[in-house]
Amino acid sequence: MAESIMTSPLRQNSVFRFAPSPNGPLHLGHALSAFLNHDMAFAQGGQFLLRIEDIDLMRCTPEFEQGIYEDLSWLGLKWPQPVRRQSDHLSHYRETLDRLIHMGLVYPAFMSRGEIKAFVVNYERAGSAWPRDPDGAPLYPPLDKRRAPHEVEALLASGVKHAWRLDMEKALARVGEPLTWNELGQGSERTIEADPGAWGDVVLSRSDAPSSYHLSVVIDDALQGVTQVVRGLDLFHATSVHRLIQWLLDLPAPDYSHHRLIVGPDGRKLSKSEGSTGLSALRQQGHTPLDIRRLVGL
Ligand code: GLU
Repeated sequence: MAESIMTSPLRQNSVFRFAPSPNGPLHLGHALSAFLNHDMAFAQGGQFLLRIEDIDLMRCTPEFEQGIYEDLSWLGLKWPQPVRRQSDHLSHYRETLDRLIHMGLVYPAFMSRGEIKAFVVNYERAGSAWPRDPDGAPLYPPLDKRRAPHEVEALLASGVKHAWRLDMEKALARVGEPLTWNELGQGSERTIEADPGAWGDVVLSRSDAPSSYHLSVVIDDALQGVTQVVRGLDLFHATSVHRLIQWLLDLPAPDYSHHRLIVGPDGRKLSKSEGSTGLSALRQQGHTPLDIRRLVGL
């Protein structure tokens, strides 16, 4: 509780959200995030929302979604109904993407992962490193942006699989001013200068899903009136992209608090396949919700 109050100064009418993806069982890392959001909302007399981020229709399942409700209820958390489920709003994300396409800021991207890899290997053969994003993935090569309009039209008409990517250079030129966000995590309030350019041409609609995390998270936070985004430090750098999309779509910026991550015995961030730290596994072993609070250091 000490951590939750320390990391969040009092705000009027604050709205928090916990936004898991139902693509695996919740683990201790999710419990920390959910508790922090819930406790801060409670301490401030604000709202705690639950949102299901399930745009990845291949990996998200109703069983995992049910597991989220069961685990969070067991932890003693309460949230208002109905819960926003992103898969119910795909046409809204598509309309927003269309707006960005009409603004000339988004282009169809045809390269597969294998093709990107081959491009990078080939480029790096000459001796210099191809730039990587803050997560370590290579920036998207500029080949699709250089295609002639008739070629793009022919590719689209052929029905070939493609994503939609933000033209970062054009987007930044449009903003023309430094973007910042208000960071309340780690016990102090400070202004962080966003650096969306470090991500290159990010995906706004995936080739295997009808939107992307970046686009739908920004739309939903605004739509649900979220004022406080409290999430793990693994998403700290992604906030730069979110601030840019908010600016382009004229959406308000919430405050952000990026909290410490729970790491496994190997020192790495927990993953959803980590059975031993799964909340339902811990419940079955006889742990109580209070034990879970202690296990995540609250
Ligand atoms: N859905 C994301 C996840 O499960 C979290 C998104 C967020 O909190 O911004 O990792």
